[in-house]
Amino acid sequence: MRMDTVIIGGGLSGLSCGIALAKRGKRVTIVASGQSTMLFNGGSMELLGHIDGKAVTNPLEAIATLPQSHPYSKIGADRIAELTERAKLMLTDSGINMVGNAAANHWRITPMGVAKPAWLTLSDHLRIDDLNSLPAKRLALMCIRGYFDQPNAMLAQGLRELGFEVDTIEFTTDDITALRRSPSEMRATSLSKHLMSNNALRRVADQINTLATDADMVLLPSVLGQNDDSDIQTLQSMTNKPLRLVATLPPAVAGMRMMKQLRHYFKMLGGNYLMGDSAVSGTFEGDRLVSISTAKLADMPLKADNFVLASGSFISRGLIADYERVYEPVLGVDVDADSNPDAWTSFGVLQPQAYSRYGVATDDQLHCLKQGKPVSNLYAIGSILSGHDAVKMGDGTGVSLMTALAVNDLIIKK
Ligand SMILES: Cc1cc2nc3c(=O)[nH]c(=O)nc-3n(C[C@H](O)[C@H](O)[C@H](O)COP(=O)(O)OP(=O)(O)OC[C@H]3O[C@@H](n4cnc5c(N)ncnc54)[C@H](O)[C@@H]3O)c2cc1C
Repeated sequence: MRMDTVIIGGGLSGLSCGIALAKRGKRVTIVASGQSTMLFNGGSMELLGHIDGKAVTNPLEAIATLPQSHPYSKIGADRIAELTERAKLMLTDSGINMVGNAAANHWRITPMGVAKPAWLTLSDHLRIDDLNSLPAKRLALMCIRGYFDQPNAMLAQGLRELGFEVDTIEFTTDDITALRRSPSEMRATSLSKHLMSNNALRRVADQINTLATDADMVLLPSVLGQNDDSDIQTLQSMTNKPLRLVATLPPAVAGMRMMKQLRHYFKMLGGNYLMGDSAVSGTFEGDRLVSISTAKLADMPLKADNFVLASGSFISRGLIADYERVYEPVLGVDVDADSNPDAWTSFGVLQPQAYSRYGVATDDQLHCLKQGKPVSNLYAIGSILSGHDAVKMGDGTGVSLMTALAVNDLIIKK
């Protein structure tokens, strides 16, 4: 089977690159072994949130100050503004409605009620553009009885510290109560399936209209809209107050929604998505990768002109650490990591962790290096790249989107 490009990994970076290439008429296969880290995403994307512990207000300006080892610097800081516009367009074309400005971070609210800088937030989720000018004075925080993946007390406290007046209102409906046969059924995913029905939404709207009379804005846990934003729009049309969703603990319906929409769009453009298969090895000739083998197509290697490694960091098994080394398990490409395991972690969960900057080594055109030499038709994108830190710098989704589009350009120009 020969394609123009084969991408290993179907998370945000792999899908974004696949969509951009398929839009330009390229035949693309994505090999996607499992769920992606978007399952943790509460509805926002970050471009650059912090430098040296300080919140970034203008990511585009701050990106220009990053070291050359950072993926943004490899792409060229002067190209990021244009790439952010293209990324927004791609998300909109996929049906993902997000609001935000790459030159001015806004604030997203975590499930714990902490405000964090963000570039884009789903238009139906709570977003604060300016902490000195809140979007509402009095909030009704609607808490679903028996749903434990939203720490309501901490969320309410965090919102109060930001300056909101918050009424915490517990509610349920007969059908949501019946859903709670076991605690595992009271998760965001089952609630969001249930809340696809107009009757179920009508009963929630009745509760809001009865209980949240004093509020300027109603907040609901982000447990609806698994496929798109139509369910929240329907609920909004049934209620008489502005509604916004707030992030919950994982699994995150917002992240699932975005992944479904990107996958759907990629397939609509003619892309081939091998769901549940994994790349296991590659065959190299000279400075080129010729083919990869997958677990399910063991006798049928996937050949292509270009390959993209988008298999994520440790959590997605794109990188592996054993007792002695950090390595990339599929193609054996070079990794930037400390050779001494004692240097990988620091004591204390809140300390900066060296391992979160580890990743595959690339040249300035994002070609993977193998034994120090660039592989001319193999690129790395997203969280598998070294030189950035999604946790400390808040640059994870931005790096995924920017590097995906930059590599698309490099492949198209060839
Ligand atoms: C816990 C957590 C919370 C986060 N929260 C946020 C947030 O709130 N906001 C934000 O902006 N960013 C957040 N991020 C960062 C952001 O989610 C990631 O940086 C970004 O989505 C990474 O996308 P990716 O496609 O590079 O990697 P991943 O999402 O890791 O996707 C890689 C994919 O490759 C697949 N794969 C791995 N090996 C193979 C193989 N051999 N063959 C085939 N497929 C393979 C994996 O199964 C996975 O689906 C968070 C990250 C984590 C870990």
